[in-house]
Amino acid sequence: MNPEVQRRKEYLKNVKRIVVKIGSSTLTHHSGLLNLERMDMLVRQLSALHNRGYEIILVTSAAVGAGMGKLGLKEKPKSIPEKQAAAAVGQGLLLHMYEKLFSEYGVIIAQLLLTKEDMILEERADNIKNTFNALLEKGIIPVINENDAVAVHELKIGDNDTLSAEVTELINANLLILLSDIDGLYDKNPSLFSDAKLISWVDHIDDKIEKICGGSGSNLGTGGMITKVRAAKIVLSISSAMVIADGSIKDILISIIDGFQVGTWFQCNYK
Ligand code: ADP
Repeated sequence: MNPEVQRRKEYLKNVKRIVVKIGSSTLTHHSGLLNLERMDMLVRQLSALHNRGYEIILVTSAAVGAGMGKLGLKEKPKSIPEKQAAAAVGQGLLLHMYEKLFSEYGVIIAQLLLTKEDMILEERADNIKNTFNALLEKGIIPVINENDAVAVHELKIGDNDTLSAEVTELINANLLILLSDIDGLYDKNPSLFSDAKLISWVDHIDDKIEKICGGSGSNLGTGGMITKVRAAKIVLSISSAMVIADGSIKDILISIIDGFQVGTWFQCNYK
């Protein structure tokens, strides 16, 4: 067996708690409207993993995108209040769709909208940790997003890649899966260089890795690769693992959990 696959499978044997973050570019069409087929495909897999006995925490983007679709906006709003208004409209719609899809598979979800303060103030972080544990014990999938409608600059975590890494750290999850519109980290920006090569394994984050991440990628996504690599830094610091993979690929979550060599896998060598 390929040694990387072997190491993934070895690590996966002890994985119980998984944070899955789905980016806007995966959840919405270019128009900003929700990609319902994609959502259904992913909810089906999350429910299947939940039924296999994994504890699943979902971090979802796309509130602004969903709001744009509902409000008929052609471009992402520029001013902060307009973005927040779109997020306030979109968050309800987003949750409504998750509620509808998860309930078809008999899975209960709970919404948690977080800000930076919730993660850094010790007492609040403890409360949130307890809430997560209570939900997971009851077999409920927490569905998280940044509270975009209320978080202004100084209250913002800023992007869901970082939020999902912080949640991974807070609740000691074993694996963070970032689903994007790209199948992993490349040695240079693949939207600019056709000869860019996929990196299958990263064991530490250094300047060299940070340099190969360009700016923000798609129109609807926010962070690009740099926030994903920074998320990896947090995850590796607690000796957990992270994967970046393409959310549009059929059965991608199941393939990751079954140890197939998909996406870019981040894990320290000594583990
Ligand atoms: P998401 O909405 O899933 O968070 P983003 O659009 O923010 O996704 O980020 C993914 C994008 O980052 C890719 O589509 C790609 O254009 C860009 N990118 C920049 N540098 C790299 C790199 N080295 N490897 C892969 N993608 C890169």
